[in-house]
Amino acid sequence: MQQNKTTSSLLNWYHTEKRILPFRDIDNPYLIWLSEVMLQQTQVSTMVPYFEKWVSKFPTINSVAIASEESCLKLWEGLGYYSRCRNFQKAAKLIVKNHQGIIPNNWTEFRALPGVGDYTAAAVLSIAFNKTYPVIDGNVKRVMARMLGLKNLTKRNMSRINKYLSHIISIENPGDFNQSLMELGASICSPKNPGCGKCPVSFNCKAFSMGEAESYPKIIKKKKTPHYEVVAGLVWRNDKFYIQKREEGGMLAGLWEFPGGKVEDGETLEDALRREIKEECGATPTILKKIGAIKHVYTHFSITFHGFHCKENGIKLTGQQPSKWIRSTEIDSFPFPKANHKLFTLLDAQGWNV
Ligand code: SF4
Repeated sequence: MQQNKTTSSLLNWYHTEKRILPFRDIDNPYLIWLSEVMLQQTQVSTMVPYFEKWVSKFPTINSVAIASEESCLKLWEGLGYYSRCRNFQKAAKLIVKNHQGIIPNNWTEFRALPGVGDYTAAAVLSIAFNKTYPVIDGNVKRVMARMLGLKNLTKRNMSRINKYLSHIISIENPGDFNQSLMELGASICSPKNPGCGKCPVSFNCKAFSMGEAESYPKIIKKKKTPHYEVVAGLVWRNDKFYIQKREEGGMLAGLWEFPGGKVEDGETLEDALRREIKEECGATPTILKKIGAIKHVYTHFSITFHGFHCKENGIKLTGQQPSKWIRSTEIDSFPFPKANHKLFTLLDAQGWNV
């Protein structure tokens, strides 16, 4: 039967060709879950050092549950999508509180945890607990669109993919089956120039048999993302400067930053900086000197980030958010967004003081 042949070909190929990674071939649900969370929107090569650092500090789900949010965010610093980290810790706390520290192995309870969507639930339950839930990530969508000859990933076609995978998923080894498809998409069935000659399922691939592998599925052009000018002030009081914590619920929540914000139409950078600091901290500092500008790209927009040295000018800053006055030597004790780290690189080169 073609389905059985496809399943066994995928498993055989995976067992001989898979990359050796620190989160592979383990049966610890906590580590499997952590790896799936860290891998979302992140490449394996970027994720691995973060995974290893995290595991050496937090070897168990209990150690995550009792840690401070700040120490978790500090380890996540630079990996982006920080809500993943905050949700993972919230879920860890709930597991300790409601499940005696044991990760639930059923869909209803596991899917109900913060940050757990259909993808994460299927991945963790199949890999850690041998449950037959197909996993459909971006790589799997592409492989399946090609195998089934589906040009568009419409809702109806996604349901056909799900149905097909539910039919061919390995009952004995659903975790490896899911990982084989993800690995195939990541290594051979790439968006451009797929290596069909090395593919274990080319005998069952419609796009390949039509000689049109690369044109499946149809690529949807991404909309151009907006670009913003953003200013931030390193506001000095003697040898310390002011930092504040980003508000709960927003983007980069829980991370620290310099005060500042978006430049409005018709504003100069300096006017925007004075306005933003007045709004955020209730005080207008004196702008002393420009540090420089860096560019940073987020998922839905990009920024040019302009940093300025400022003097507090005898005014007491009274920010609404938690705030601190720190020395440059203390910067490593707080989690900052990546754009701020790019500014730190400029400051390291120039010397931090004005
Ligand atoms: Fe992808 Fe080619 Fe394999 Fe088809 S034969 S699944 S297009 S690598």
